Amino acid sequence: MKAFFVDLTKCTACRGCQVACKQWKDLPGEETYNWGSHQNPKEVTAYTYKLVHFKEIELEDNKVDWVFFSEQCRHCTEPPCYYTGDMEVEGSVERDEETGAVLFTELTKEVEFELIRESCPYDIPRVREDGLITKCNFCNDRVHEGMLPACASACPTGAIEFGDEDDIYELAEKRLEEVRAKFPNAELGDPDSVRVIYLFPYPASDVFDKAVAQAKPMTRRNLIAGRIK
Ligand code: SF4
Ligand code: SF4
Ligand code: SF4
Repeated sequence: MKAFFVDLTKCTACRGCQVACKQWKDLPGEETYNWGSHQNPKEVTAYTYKLVHFKEIELEDNKVDWVFFSEQCRHCTEPPCYYTGDMEVEGSVERDEETGAVLFTELTKEVEFELIRESCPYDIPRVREDGLITKCNFCNDRVHEGMLPACASACPTGAIEFGDEDDIYELAEKRLEEVRAKFPNAELGDPDSVRVIYLFPYPASDVFDKAVAQAKPMTRRNLIAGRIK
């Protein structure tokens, strides 16, 4: 099983990951406009699976800090989109038991989009004109060939790490301890329930309102305890 660790304290907003994702997935460019931010497009789309968000954080003494958040599907360990999709049309959302990737298939065209979108605690799924529901697929083809995902491979600062899940979880905890010397409110985003773990220098919800789960995520622990209704 594999996982990502994305360290926002190392991100310079170069957007190499966003471009690499477009390139590897052969995704078309989209019309964008100046909406008052360097961030474009405004949110993930059916053709933009990786998006670097720009956020100004107001600090004390009239100071500000800029945080960059390279968003993608979290590949949840107990993915609500999988249970929803499977209940509607079997095989529309799959899980790769070897890598942990959560994959949308052609059968998503037969699933009601809003059901899938609403099931996602991070608001990731988007739909194309032909009904195909899309998102990041973990670069599962590359991973099976022993390659890094395109976004991780392109990142020049080491902000995106990818590897075996145990190593990644250990790295995430270690970096959290390190960065707390400078950022006392730093936190990891839902590390118990995702395969894309973000390290936020400030409280995650100050960086992006959908940075951490909007509803109780389906962790193995919660499922066993029967707390998910
Ligand atoms: Fe895009 Fe692949 Fe990175 Fe997902 S893992 S965001 S598909 S480059
Ligand atoms: Fe599914 Fe959303 Fe989790 Fe991705 S982040 S696996 S789309 S529930
Ligand atoms: Fe940040 Fe790395 Fe993406 Fe550049 S490639 S925007 S440094 S995460």
